[in-house]
Amino acid sequence: MSNCLLPALAFQTFGCRLNQAESEGWQSELATQGYPIVPWEEADIFIVHSCAVTEPAVKEVTRLLRMARQQRPTLSLILSGCAAELVKEVAIDLRIPHTKKPEWMALTTAFLATRTPLTPLARAASPRPTRTRAALIIQDGCDHFCAYCIVPHLRGAPISEPADQILARAEALFAQGYEEIVLTGCHLALYRDPKSGFDFIELLRRLIDVRGEGRFRIGSLEPCVLDDRALIRLIAASHGRICPFLHFPMQSAADEVLRLMRRRYTQTDLRRVLDTVCETLPGCGLGADWIAGHPGETPEAAQVTTDFISAYPFTGAHVFPYSKREGTPAATFPNQVPQNEILRRAKCLREAAEVQRIRQLQAAIGKPLEVIPEQCRAGVRHGWSAERFRCRLPASFERGKRIWVTPTALEGDTLIIS
Ligand code: SF4
Repeated sequence: MSNCLLPALAFQTFGCRLNQAESEGWQSELATQGYPIVPWEEADIFIVHSCAVTEPAVKEVTRLLRMARQQRPTLSLILSGCAAELVKEVAIDLRIPHTKKPEWMALTTAFLATRTPLTPLARAASPRPTRTRAALIIQDGCDHFCAYCIVPHLRGAPISEPADQILARAEALFAQGYEEIVLTGCHLALYRDPKSGFDFIELLRRLIDVRGEGRFRIGSLEPCVLDDRALIRLIAASHGRICPFLHFPMQSAADEVLRLMRRRYTQTDLRRVLDTVCETLPGCGLGADWIAGHPGETPEAAQVTTDFISAYPFTGAHVFPYSKREGTPAATFPNQVPQNEILRRAKCLREAAEVQRIRQLQAAIGKPLEVIPEQCRAGVRHGWSAERFRCRLPASFERGKRIWVTPTALEGDTLIIS
């Protein structure tokens, strides 16, 4: 229930899916308590959940906060997340660094209690986000210390949610009407139930039996940590309860670069995983992250990764031009790649990935897909298939209700359902 005596809040979230999920959870909780959620231009308090994974990410957070402070000097600012203590140039009213994340809600509500609305507005009474997909955080932290990555320094050692709580939460989310739950974490493959010690694959087995109609989607998953064959077989045997979709942060396919990155697999390992996906889950949505221009990457090694992308049926890619992160070993490596060359390699990776993506989308024409229609905008309704293919649907389809449809054409990167 919205309350115009409570200050109005605006949220802005930067960074990974885990950050997004944390922020959505807090936003939902505060909305339930009656706090109006509004655009920052109308807010009394601006809550920014930040990311510090790269230096440009910190600069982006700083730029936003500076602009907000300049344009709305009376606005209160709360800054949480990995950059909470890194933004020095802007006066922040409350900082909640990662180490205090468990107390986020208590610290924030205590702060909010000291604030009254500056600009009572006729605010809409339905602040709760209307969504069909919910993120469920099951794990946080990582201790793998890849050479380029600041995450273990910021988020600390892995911790996991108890499985019984995850199962209960999933059941509750389905009961609330969510059609898809995205399992999210910093490093999902490190999941261990704190009581029994079982791993992510066993958690998935139990989730398949949770009461409710919806489906599960696995968030980004480090390759070659779990028994990938067992995982892929389980997805195939779940008959759609677990979306046929895998997103692997592979980063490179060149063994010498993987070694420099301190990744724990080789190209042969990656091929084994992908071959198993192709054999056991044909048509599966297959995403990957790639880093272009990691220190020590030669033009030949970059080409190895480009060729690797061209050899497998990837349906999506996030290509990150390498950016130096102070405090990581890679920042001090010799053989840093010049920026223009980093961008050239990123472009090659994106082009190779795009060719594969369009090829896989064309292959999906004429095959049944399970799609969740999203909100209709300007008379056009889109939706996402279990494989994470974007679909355009007739506006008459009901939002949020999973349906089986067969695409008849492809326009750009969108499958057309007529
Ligand atoms: S596995 Fe590597 S890249 Fe992933 S969070 Fe851990 S250190 Fe970072």
